[in-house]
Amino acid sequence: MKTVDLRSDTVTRPSEAMRRVMAGAEVGDDVYGEDPTVNKLEAMAAELLGKEKAIFVPSGTMSNLTALLSHCGRGDEYIAGQDAHIYRWEGGGGAIFGGIQPQPLDFDEDGTLNLDKVRRAVKPADHHHAVTRLLCLENTHGGRVLPLPYLEEAAGVARELGLALHLDGARVFNAAVYLQVPVREIARHFDSVSVCLSKGLGAPVGSVLCGSADLINRAHRWRKVAGGGMRQAGLLAAACIYALQHNVERLAEDHENAELLSSGLGHIEELLVSQARTNILFVTPPAGTAPALRQALAAEGILIGGGDVIRLVTHLDVDGAGVERTVAAFKRFFANRGK
Ligand SMILES: *Cc1c(COP(=O)(O)O)cnc(C)c1O
Repeated sequence: MKTVDLRSDTVTRPSEAMRRVMAGAEVGDDVYGEDPTVNKLEAMAAELLGKEKAIFVPSGTMSNLTALLSHCGRGDEYIAGQDAHIYRWEGGGGAIFGGIQPQPLDFDEDGTLNLDKVRRAVKPADHHHAVTRLLCLENTHGGRVLPLPYLEEAAGVARELGLALHLDGARVFNAAVYLQVPVREIARHFDSVSVCLSKGLGAPVGSVLCGSADLINRAHRWRKVAGGGMRQAGLLAAACIYALQHNVERLAEDHENAELLSSGLGHIEELLVSQARTNILFVTPPAGTAPALRQALAAEGILIGGGDVIRLVTHLDVDGAGVERTVAAFKRFFANRGK
């Protein structure tokens, strides 16, 4: 029985075809800039995102960290959402390695940062304060797609305030496919964009940070300092190239599957089910039932996330049959509970 793993889109495994291109990849020492496959991936990512340059890094966390270190110096500050990944879920790397202070703000319900709040959060130029340098947005955030007009407005405000603008675009291709625009239409508003290839795009490892040549040259130094200078990384870059060539448009299937899951589970009286947002939805079972539900589903080969509000994430290893099995298993759990 095939496992249906809905915990995250990071769980995708490289397909046979992806493994073949990895095995056949031409490689060299990337710390010398001599890995042709890494160079190809970086050129391809820069082109797709409409930026001068890109750099291949092992993870989204290192990508965001090198972005922070490249935009900000010691005693500088960045503004980000209270539960933004770059602030809340990356161990405080900016503070540890860069002496960079975060200024978190509550996200609005739609995943945007209120731009008046941003304006008020910027510190005056005065020696009492940290120097506010950077504004960070996240797209998608919890699966929510930031509207293009909002990005336009945010870019204008950042410019006016003298802030650089960074996008944590771990799932920015989900946003682009959802909006049916080329990803550069989203990226063009930002000075830097971080993209994960290891999530819904299906590569086993890897992220890219894209931006101006000047910024990415600085990021090169920080990647090395952070221990992210990889050698024959072309094996991994080959998987990422394959992902960009084959797995972008199909993200639409993940969004459809998330909707099917949301509508199927929506018929279960006991469950509070969110709308699907791109490839992510949330379900809230009655208080105290989440552990038993998780256990019953696991017994049927269906894995769901932790906590009382359960996140479900669709991806290329979850097909329509997996969605049906999941809905049926949820129904069975609640039907049996009533007996
Ligand atoms: C997953 C994720 C990251 C970090 O990526 P890792 O490769 O797990 O380090 C950063 N930002 C967001 C929004 C993410 O979802």
